[in-house]
Amino acid sequence: MQLDRFGLQYEIIEASGRHGGRVYTYHFETPETPNFHNYYDVGAMRFPRTKIMDAVFKLFGELDLDKDGKIIKYIMNAPGNIQLFNDKYLTFTYTKPNGEVLMGVEALLADAYDPFKEKLVENFEKGWEYLMEYDNHSARTYLGQVKGYPFSVIAWMETMDSSTLSYDLAFSETVIDSLDFDYPSGPNNPSGTVMEWACVDGGTQVVTDRMAEKINIKPLFNCRVTAIAMDDPTSHNPGMKISVQGHPEYEGKRYSHVIATAPLSCMRAMDLDQAGLDYAQNQALRCLGYGAAIKVGIKFKTRWWEKTSTPTMLGGVSSTDRPSRIVVYPSYGFDDPQDANGVLMASYCWTQDALRLGSLIKGKGTEEEKILLDIIYKDLAEIHGQEPQWYKDQTVDYHAHDWYHDQYSIGGKHPVAYASFGPGQFSNLYTELTKPAAKGNLHFAGEATSTHHAWIVGALESVDRAIYEVFVKEQRDDLIEEHAKNWEEGEVEQGYQAALQCLRGILGLYS
Ligand SMILES: Cc1cc2nc3c(=O)[nH]c(=O)nc-3n(C[C@H](O)[C@H](O)[C@H](O)COP(=O)(O)OP(=O)(O)OC[C@H]3O[C@@H](n4cnc5c(N)ncnc54)[C@H](O)[C@@H]3O)c2cc1C
Repeated sequence: MQLDRFGLQYEIIEASGRHGGRVYTYHFETPETPNFHNYYDVGAMRFPRTKIMDAVFKLFGELDLDKDGKIIKYIMNAPGNIQLFNDKYLTFTYTKPNGEVLMGVEALLADAYDPFKEKLVENFEKGWEYLMEYDNHSARTYLGQVKGYPFSVIAWMETMDSSTLSYDLAFSETVIDSLDFDYPSGPNNPSGTVMEWACVDGGTQVVTDRMAEKINIKPLFNCRVTAIAMDDPTSHNPGMKISVQGHPEYEGKRYSHVIATAPLSCMRAMDLDQAGLDYAQNQALRCLGYGAAIKVGIKFKTRWWEKTSTPTMLGGVSSTDRPSRIVVYPSYGFDDPQDANGVLMASYCWTQDALRLGSLIKGKGTEEEKILLDIIYKDLAEIHGQEPQWYKDQTVDYHAHDWYHDQYSIGGKHPVAYASFGPGQFSNLYTELTKPAAKGNLHFAGEATSTHHAWIVGALESVDRAIYEVFVKEQRDDLIEEHAKNWEEGEVEQGYQAALQCLRGILGLYS
């Protein structure tokens, strides 16, 4: 859409047979009731209404999703949601005057993260510089060595707040994640009320379907890029060429620029020997960390969680330290329960929790997936109170997806859930990919090359940067100016930093 706006010629070359990538809504094929809300979002599913997410909501507006009533409220927490830890149901809460409900861990987290978050909200670029001073810390070492919390307290915080071993990731990653999930009072939350979240009625894939409809030049599917190279490495404007598996017509075709949006693991599988990457860029492609994620959707005969629990659960999540970790109740389908299908996200896991359950995701009907379902039924029983067999008897169908070992949806067929950097990676490696390669003709984009990992906004912002790089290299001041009008403020790569990074790339400068 951005490229159409500038009247540029482009091709979108996609390895898989569908558009959307990690925006993927799974629709069950077995409706017993009308085929309505018969899906769950296997990838992106929720969007906080904060300043950081402006670009996403702007996109929703451009696609008329708001106007058509497709953007509905996502319920992050609801009365009746359960917290089951150490076999005990946690019931103690503290309600702030603005209605926000806090529990013990949240207070400790706010104490550790809020000073950074407030600086980032005030001025993202300056806040980022401050955060980078602590980038060599993992969340665990920061909480232990800087805040002085004992091991057991940190382990308790990690268990309640996040996923197993996630505190070994960069402290900076954890702070940004916390900012994305829990934006302190600021421009978009002026009244200090609890942050509002949104989701897309019909699933997030409605967004990418509409994007695909709207763009002038449609993607070319089943075209896996296997190599990217400079066309004339001796020239200061070398041009680019690519190879596409099974499509000899691409050999010899010249492009002025390539914007590479494939996940870094997929990029690594391409032949980039002649692509003009420097050592640090190759190292960044190899080393920058990705996390794992799995989701299991179960379609039940009824929406029992809205009927049998007291109070009834209308949206929100329940969490536990048992293997399934998080249960997500649909935020839609309340108005007409006769019609709404009983699709529940029975487990959503990250990091080590995802790797463990993910090892059981081997395809429908396999022995491993029977074990997976038994684990989930047992957890549902412990959380909600019936016998495991009851949930099994209620099941109409299920779908399990392991993003890290994804073979089907991500055309590149390589481990990808979302970027999750380790200590020091933001300050030492990330900046190698926010500058172009090939003398300014090859650009890296996609969520991993943004500061907002695991969010669509990260992908959008990285593309804004990549387009800016193209215009700088082409010395199109008119388009740079035009582009600036649509570029959301606040990103660290914007402005002076973007200009600097772009020049570093064009001139081939190392850090
Ligand atoms: C489980 C999960 C939950 C999430 N939840 C949320 C959420 O609630 N809210 C939110 O905003 N975001 C969420 N996200 C993150 C969001 O989905 C991603 O950040 C975003 O979709 C990434 O977009 P991208 O364009 O960078 O990458 P992708 O969407 O992965 O697109 C990359 C594309 O490159 C293609 N490709 C790979 N290799 C090649 C090749 N060799 N040649 C050609 N094409 C290739 C792939 O097939 C793919 O289509 C979630 C992600 C996951 C996995």
